[in-house]
Amino acid sequence: MDFSNLPDEQLTEEQLGAWGDDWQEPVDIPPPIPAGRYLLKISKIHEDRSNAFEYQGKSHLSVVLDFAVAEGPLANRSAETYAQLNSMPSFFGNRASDIGNLLNAAGLTQPPASLRAMHDTLVRMVASGTSFEGRVEWEGHCSACYERALLAATDALDIEAAKAAASMLGKEEKKRAYNEARKAGKKVSKMTQFPTAPNGNYIPFFACPQCEKEAAFGSEGIVQAKSVVIRRSFHRSTLKESF
Ligand SMILES: [Zn+2]
Repeated sequence: MDFSNLPDEQLTEEQLGAWGDDWQEPVDIPPPIPAGRYLLKISKIHEDRSNAFEYQGKSHLSVVLDFAVAEGPLANRSAETYAQLNSMPSFFGNRASDIGNLLNAAGLTQPPASLRAMHDTLVRMVASGTSFEGRVEWEGHCSACYERALLAATDALDIEAAKAAASMLGKEEKKRAYNEARKAGKKVSKMTQFPTAPNGNYIPFFACPQCEKEAAFGSEGIVQAKSVVIRRSFHRSTLKESF
């Protein structure tokens, strides 16, 4: 972006929005929903982040979805954003794919005939608000701890070099390096309720206790809480939607 090319014309009221006497303090963001089982729906498909990809000579679909609560007092509240699901069946567990779990949970009995049909079904689910049962959990993540562990695992000096070094490792070593980093980054798992301040406002960030201990490293970490819909526990909805 060349900022010297930014238009220098007078901004209109339409471009500026509320200002001055019209301006009001932003309202508090409602606290995230508590962990638990919910009837969920897909609230958005991020088409720009979704694509088909090849793996071992076969085409697969990868979609990025937002989930929201389908009904009840928390209806339409966000459950997870930017969840990446793909159509590659897992070799473990129930041998279904993330998308397969979702479609089965939503009551789709006939498998989609093609990747296009699979995508069309997801689009119809958004349009009709098709619900399925899913579990929402919270976890707290510290990216400073994650990066520190990845640096240690790769003997690199900065994170870009660490990622480059990790990409050169063999399959198993690479897996081990990233697993160590993920383990170091995860500070809280299975958080049942979002942390709140004494005034009742929720706290999306808090200081990482590990980073405080390791202040000698010069990194100040924060733990960021985020929601995770546990995909493999999608359960068949009691609602029968027709596709
Ligand atoms: Zn940390």
